Amino acid sequence: MQFQKALTAWRCNAAARLCCFFLLLTGGEAFAAQPDQTGPQPEPSRPPLAAPAAPRFAPTQDKVVVYSGCTVIDVSGRPPRPEMAIITRGERIDAIVPASDLQLPAGAEIVDSRGKFALPGLINSHVHLANHPDRRFAEAMMRRDLYGGVTAVRSMGDDARALADLARASRVGEVAGPDIFYAALFAGPDFLQDGRLVASTQGMAPGTAAWVQGIDDKTDLRTAVTLAKGTGAVGIKIYANLSPLLVRKIATEARRQRMQVWAHAMVFPTTPREVVEARPDSISHTGYLGYEAVAKRPKRYQDREAFPLDPAPFERGDNKVMAALFDALREEGIILDATNYVFETIERMRAETPDNAPPPPYCSSYLAELLTAEAYKHGVLISAGTDSFAPADDPFSALHSELEILVRKVGMTPLDALRSATVISAMSAGQQKEMGTLEPGKLANILFLNSDPLSDISAIRDVELTVKRGVRFPRKDYQPLTRSEIEGRL
Ligand SMILES: [Zn+2]
Repeated sequence: MQFQKALTAWRCNAAARLCCFFLLLTGGEAFAAQPDQTGPQPEPSRPPLAAPAAPRFAPTQDKVVVYSGCTVIDVSGRPPRPEMAIITRGERIDAIVPASDLQLPAGAEIVDSRGKFALPGLINSHVHLANHPDRRFAEAMMRRDLYGGVTAVRSMGDDARALADLARASRVGEVAGPDIFYAALFAGPDFLQDGRLVASTQGMAPGTAAWVQGIDDKTDLRTAVTLAKGTGAVGIKIYANLSPLLVRKIATEARRQRMQVWAHAMVFPTTPREVVEARPDSISHTGYLGYEAVAKRPKRYQDREAFPLDPAPFERGDNKVMAALFDALREEGIILDATNYVFETIERMRAETPDNAPPPPYCSSYLAELLTAEAYKHGVLISAGTDSFAPADDPFSALHSELEILVRKVGMTPLDALRSATVISAMSAGQQKEMGTLEPGKLANILFLNSDPLSDISAIRDVELTVKRGVRFPRKDYQPLTRSEIEGRL
């Protein structure tokens, strides 16, 4: 008891001492000013705010680093070049030269990269980082992405308040994560009660958020697109329950305001063909394309499950309606954000936890992969997106699995699959001038592997080092996901 009392007294005194100390620091003498003083009182002096420390992963200004001796796979079409040196300056690639020709810039740091394979940082063209905003979970996903080689993602219509914060934190290097490019979502007013949209507009009445807008014939589209742009979004995602005329009008206005146009491949009742005629930059979910070739289609997004797609008309690969659609996609240069991985994810969840799984999908993974394969044969640009996260025990992002699906099930060459996850995904986000290939002037976003992904695509899991905007993230520093980070989410 005595000891307790003494301890309490000491704590009170210590607290008092701290208070006094604080008063002194903050100009405590000002409190002693006499009430009979007249005229303006001097402002109490304030301690200067300490300059914040540079963020932990901030890109450097002009530090020169030479990655010497690696094989460069630049996905631009030329064969891999062995024994090269990649010179980065600050956050950009300065030069790529044969290692034997290297004239070492003064003050350069050398990273011995002999035996390594260098390719552009991977880009996931379909994630949802803030559907039900949870900063801790999102940062965990971003960390797994980045240390596995994913240097940019396209987040396809989530809570823009949360996305803007995550995008900023990652961009300035406060957290280890990919660059984030995101969309504002437009849908018919009868879709605004969807649970995901409600979750990504918490605290607001449906349809009043600038990043999730209900659109009908009376909407002032100029204002709608401008408001969407103000959220920091770079694209409009045309999601569901919109007429062909509205889809065209939204796409036209978005282009006029220099926004990307990212549409679902079926917008209910707007068919894939009608979506393509609106000339979006990309269309999402290969499974939707099958609705073009069937007699009965759902009129609303909510009715998808009642119209499951039968693979039979597509299995021989000679479906004329599909062939014409794929030709149109190729001719218009519209990117197919295929998202094969999500169809497999739904099937896995239904098998593992039947009581707590999504309803049966309108399209099987088998059919989705079949349609992606047909698109590939027709020369359609296919980006690599996942629309879902890898399981908790996977030390790599879902994009790694999508790449394996593109090679093993869709039948792409490893190089074409890598093009999907780099240069074409960069195009899908409108970022091809900045990223997606290894070229002087582009961002120094580089994935170094220990083995050759062109021989075996699973080498993308044999990561040595990720470089994003010139900052190095060695795989050995990767901290695996913790249970508390992902509780209830994966
Ligand atoms: Zn999505």
